[in-house]
Amino acid sequence: MGLFKAWKELKAISASGAPTGQAPHQPHGMMMGFAAAMGKMVAPLLAVQAPERGDPLPGTEPGVLGDQDPAATQAGIAGVRARDSAFDPQLLTTFADQVFAAVCSVWGTGDASAMRPLLADALWDPLAATLASGLGSGPGTLYSHQTGNATMAGVWAGTFYDSARFTIAVDLGVPIDPQQKGMPPGFTGKWTEDWLFQRSVQPGGDPMKLPEACPSCGAPTAVGADGLCAHCRQPIPVLTAGWLVSAVRSHNPVLEMYRAQMVSQLRANPEELAMVPDELLRLLPADDVASIDPRRAAALGLRPSS
Ligand SMILES: [Zn+2]
Repeated sequence: MGLFKAWKELKAISASGAPTGQAPHQPHGMMMGFAAAMGKMVAPLLAVQAPERGDPLPGTEPGVLGDQDPAATQAGIAGVRARDSAFDPQLLTTFADQVFAAVCSVWGTGDASAMRPLLADALWDPLAATLASGLGSGPGTLYSHQTGNATMAGVWAGTFYDSARFTIAVDLGVPIDPQQKGMPPGFTGKWTEDWLFQRSVQPGGDPMKLPEACPSCGAPTAVGADGLCAHCRQPIPVLTAGWLVSAVRSHNPVLEMYRAQMVSQLRANPEELAMVPDELLRLLPADDVASIDPRRAAALGLRPSS
């Protein structure tokens, strides 16, 4: 189920009061409540299909999702090696291939548990919820066929983390009919994804946890609503047991097309934004949400890029 289709189903539900169209005379509040509950249920599925999944861990230096020139990559490798003489970029690349294959595999089995040690919470939570709910069984029959081939695209020896970004050449693994409706023109079933792997310089956590105290101010760890230290407003870096995938940026044109359709639908009908649940709205580009409804975007903490 794509982003756009799921959202259209939600619209139908809130318009009728029930998923199948019965009970059309529900009070408005109950319909909205039902749509919101459906949104919460569908949101994890949409989150694991969103073009942007997860984020660099708190306290990561800027730029780890951007391009890095080869000299800087070599410097990053040397920096990580200075802390860990066993660090081997080739072994980590093989590991990235294995992790990608393992994610595809759990889509087929429906059991996410093998992925828990390998994914940051922001990637684990929606994947586990989707597979546990059974909502992943449909897309899983497709995703389990995917294959990927990782190439190291950047390495950073940061203050709190070792970070390595891989470009993964993904192949859907099933034949594509070029006449298929709902596909972007020229879709070949191949695209790239950026996968960010990170581990904390100071190991700990299972697979990740907050430290006992904020490293910036030394106060006992307390995270505010903005995700920062409640005392000094600095990010509190997490401790990881080992390498985790913290962020994925998919350049799958199908996902991008669905999301663009949803944005243009909302631009044409801005009043419909009010019934899109928060969890879905967070999957849209912050700039688009802010330009359609700045107050709602601000309430959600969506920060436009400029
Ligand atoms: Zn602090």
